[in-house]
Amino acid sequence: MLYEKYLHVIDEKKDEFCAVSDALWDNPETAFGEYYAVDLITKKLEENGFKVTYNLSGIPTAFKATYGEGKPSLGILAEYDALEGMSQVACETEKKSIPGKDKGHGCGHNLFAGGSLAAAFAVKAYIEEKGSGSITLFGCPAEEGGAGKVFLARDGVFNDIDSVVSWHPEKMYMVRTRPSLANVVVDYTFEGIASHAGGSPHLGRSALDALELMNVGANFLREHMELTSRVHYAILDAGGNAPNMVQSHAVVRYMIRGVDSDTVKNLWERVDRIAQGATMMTDTTVSSQVVSAYANLVTIPTLQATANEAMHDIPLPVPTEEELAFGRALQKTVTLTKEQEKKPPFAMEVLDPAPPVAHGGSTDTADVSWNCPTVQLHIGNWAIGTPGHSWQAVSQCRGSYAKKSMLYAGKAVAGTLIRLFENPELIKKAKAEHKEKIGDGYICGLTADVKPVIQPKAQ
Ligand SMILES: [Zn+2]
Repeated sequence: MLYEKYLHVIDEKKDEFCAVSDALWDNPETAFGEYYAVDLITKKLEENGFKVTYNLSGIPTAFKATYGEGKPSLGILAEYDALEGMSQVACETEKKSIPGKDKGHGCGHNLFAGGSLAAAFAVKAYIEEKGSGSITLFGCPAEEGGAGKVFLARDGVFNDIDSVVSWHPEKMYMVRTRPSLANVVVDYTFEGIASHAGGSPHLGRSALDALELMNVGANFLREHMELTSRVHYAILDAGGNAPNMVQSHAVVRYMIRGVDSDTVKNLWERVDRIAQGATMMTDTTVSSQVVSAYANLVTIPTLQATANEAMHDIPLPVPTEEELAFGRALQKTVTLTKEQEKKPPFAMEVLDPAPPVAHGGSTDTADVSWNCPTVQLHIGNWAIGTPGHSWQAVSQCRGSYAKKSMLYAGKAVAGTLIRLFENPELIKKAKAEHKEKIGDGYICGLTADVKPVIQPKAQ
């Protein structure tokens, strides 16, 4: 294995990284409230000679930690937020929540943090010996619906970084090639006139009617938009629960997605007009407020090829009989294809990057990718067939195979970064590809008036 002596740092300190991951699993915190996680991770980084900058963009749970000086300056991302409603007993093969707990790590961000910390330590060992360049671990809060990285990108936090290598828990081992969709999340608030629905309906103007008509309009819109675009909604406030009232207030949240920010902008304007149309039909008014916005992911072939080499170079974790049995038992609770049923429960090989296919999801890593060349590795921490954001994922995220593959992730990320340090021409090439892809540059979808919804720190 290339750069074995640096990556070996991860084996030496593996208990430490696994303990961080388990501690985060045991103390799940949601978007912009990840105080425990940040204390734990930054303490480890400071103890190991990293210089930590806290409170990035005024967010108490965003930080960066740098080791070394000068160029190239490369970056690693770490996430650590959990999800509401995801309480689940660890390593169980059936759905079973922990009494009194609500949150859980259904997206594997406890592993994400542990693996990225491991990578940072291995790269530190390399820089220590070579004496040039720097590595920065970016502590990114609120990936789950909070657009954490978008606030950081809006402030230019990633601008001086030559390349970022990130990863995410998945079911397969492969460099990510699929793009992600840009999106915007907008709350539409309708206001009407309250009245008794039985006694004086003619005096009322229903905000709820307007909301429903907006949804009807959006349903008709869906037939006339790009196949890759998406329009979703959730009713946040239906105006009350009394049917004998004309509802004077109603709020609906729309999420509008498209292949890039321009496509989203055009579609959003159409959705805006539908909202206006609904007010004209009902004599109501509407106001809107942007909640979050993501760019689309910019992919960089040179970084993908470099990461692919590193991933193939490092031996994959081998599941024990017990781990295989656990994986198989969990797979009984999900739907598998015939093909998947014949295979072992965990991915056993690194797949070559597939040609990019359309993907309906969005990620805030996309906003990082507009500001510096970025690559993401998919790591097979979970049994094949495990849905993200599921009890099965939470259950596995504290398991032994997930941690073994987390250590693999750390080595793969560090292996990619060390290759870049060793071959500055790769960084140059990545930057040229990036420049060409971003055209006129990054326009953050979040205007300055949109602020992160920071949770207060528990005393
Ligand atoms: Zn995630």
